Amino acid sequence: MCKRSIFFIILIILLIYLFSSNLEINETFKNYRGKFLERYKKYWSPYDYRARRRYNCNPIYIKKGLNNNKIWYVPRECEQGLPHTRENNIISLPFDYINIDSHHKSKTLTHEYVHLDQKQNYGLWKKFYEREWFYTLSDVPPPNMPRNLILRYRLNPDTFIEKWACFNKKWWSVPIYTNNYSLNNAKILWFYDNDNDNNIYENPPQEWIDFFGPVESIGQIEHPNEISAVYLTNPENYNSKAFKILYKWKTINQLD
Ligand SMILES: [Zn+2]
Repeated sequence: MCKRSIFFIILIILLIYLFSSNLEINETFKNYRGKFLERYKKYWSPYDYRARRRYNCNPIYIKKGLNNNKIWYVPRECEQGLPHTRENNIISLPFDYINIDSHHKSKTLTHEYVHLDQKQNYGLWKKFYEREWFYTLSDVPPPNMPRNLILRYRLNPDTFIEKWACFNKKWWSVPIYTNNYSLNNAKILWFYDNDNDNNIYENPPQEWIDFFGPVESIGQIEHPNEISAVYLTNPENYNSKAFKILYKWKTINQLD
């Protein structure tokens, strides 16, 4: 075979490769524009817009994930570099993660797969939270929640569908922006829904701690979707009552 034909064969293979990977990007992108982003943006407050003002989450590279899910590698500015899920089958990671094969990355992926499962089996999870964890989810806040809490809510793509989470019928956990619009440094406040004035607390109630364990051991406590993802990513670290119930339920249901 002469050099020229080898060159053409390589060129054709390269073109087929580029064409097929572009196809995947376009197809997903259509899906992405049509559903997730449109829906997600509807929930953005002025603070959320400010925090995401250089929003670019167009995938730079797409890889296949487990069970027909996909992993998008996106620009660093997407969600301020925080790994998250989009649609109900896409995990989005900052591009820096692409060639890393670390313990941290595999733990991050495990956490994000739990979020995909929460989206794919939404009804099951919601029922679980209600029956077993005494949490109700809602897309509207309670009528007497102070307006500044509502306005300062920091939206999370893994919890945004029913972001208002209420524990034991009275306690609402509210992640709020502090003064720098950092998505990662949101502070969790607890609104106690009663008739008194002094009803915003910096810590969850004792009944919550007795059930879920110390706040520091979980870290992300804003919403049951986060608590369960944290628990299931490092099950060896937990033995609270809430963890045990979740672990048993997960095993019985054999969710991914
Ligand atoms: Zn999460």
